[in-house]
Amino acid sequence: MYFHTRKSTMSRVINFSSGPAQLPQEVLQQAAQEMMDWRGSGMSVMEMSHRGPEFTEILAHTQALMRELLKVPDTHTVLFLQGGAIAENAILPMNLIGRTGQADYVVSGVWSAKSAQEAGKYGQVHVAASSQADDFLRMPAQSEWQLSPQAAYVHFCSNETIGGVECHWTPDTGSVPLVADMSSNILSAPLDVSRYGVIYAGAQKNMGPSGVTLVIVRNDLMGHALPITPSAFDYHIQAAQDSMYNTPPTYAIYIMGLVLDHVKRQGGLAAMQAHNLRKADHLYDFLDHSQLFFNKVARADRSRMNVTFFLRNEALNDSFLQGAQAQGMVQLRGHRSAGGMRASIYNAMPLASVQTLVDYMHQFEKSHR
Ligand SMILES: *Cc1c(COP(=O)(O)O)cnc(C)c1O
Repeated sequence: MYFHTRKSTMSRVINFSSGPAQLPQEVLQQAAQEMMDWRGSGMSVMEMSHRGPEFTEILAHTQALMRELLKVPDTHTVLFLQGGAIAENAILPMNLIGRTGQADYVVSGVWSAKSAQEAGKYGQVHVAASSQADDFLRMPAQSEWQLSPQAAYVHFCSNETIGGVECHWTPDTGSVPLVADMSSNILSAPLDVSRYGVIYAGAQKNMGPSGVTLVIVRNDLMGHALPITPSAFDYHIQAAQDSMYNTPPTYAIYIMGLVLDHVKRQGGLAAMQAHNLRKADHLYDFLDHSQLFFNKVARADRSRMNVTFFLRNEALNDSFLQGAQAQGMVQLRGHRSAGGMRASIYNAMPLASVQTLVDYMHQFEKSHR
């Protein structure tokens, strides 16, 4: 069919981008097949009214699947908003901080530091714990979190995409609502949503294309927005209108729905966790035995999504990247603020691609002894 005639000329790279990141090939194939005519509607999803029956069905399907995969309890509402996680850094305090005027932030890397800084525009921010003194190479342990009972919420980042530091446990903040930026590890493993006040995540790491932001909010936390909050970013208003106060990012929601279908077919979040563990273990195991490559993150806090690594001889960085490129592996350079290398290995990254990378690193090391 259409796709198969293209396939012979198509060549896809092994894409280690931190985001927007690669999507499951089946998802792209299905989107291509449905591009001109979504299931007999005679329209592309991009051309549909967001209030028409077709998109209403797509939205309901995507919401239901998100709730099913994440086992979202009835106490929580799922919103599909715009602006990404960086906009949420402001939207979240606008919605939540007004209850007491202050919030606790745990700072474990570039992203959570940005979140804390932005929140300071809307209330009093208290840094409850920070690993900055350790170059953000570990997650501050629960015992270090100095929480204030007056905080409207406690914010942390569950996976620091740039540093490659992941929180593998669910923090306990007592009666103070827990808030997480899960942009780069949502859907990578099962999650107990009931433990959170708010979870937010941009889609483009693990859920779909950029343009849609997932916000899961506990119902009792809505309705306290600061008066300055734009209506389109007021959780209460968006919840009352089923994320359709303004036109939602319809095509991004549709693709996210296809990704969720794919995750479900793979066996859901437990299967994703097993798959992600295998990949991360393979790569870290290589790094731990290498004479040339190494990872700096505290073992217990290593990210299963973003594996950061360095070459002991940094003069070899460019030739390492060029050799990778020659084998079809792209986007391995670390974030400019971190240096070194980073392999982002989200849900859509096959184990075989990680094996290809490790084989290449092994060869590279052998030829540079
Ligand atoms: C990518 C990322 C962001 C930024 O997302 P935008 O879509 O650019 O707003 C924020 N936090 C984390 C943890 C991320 O990985």
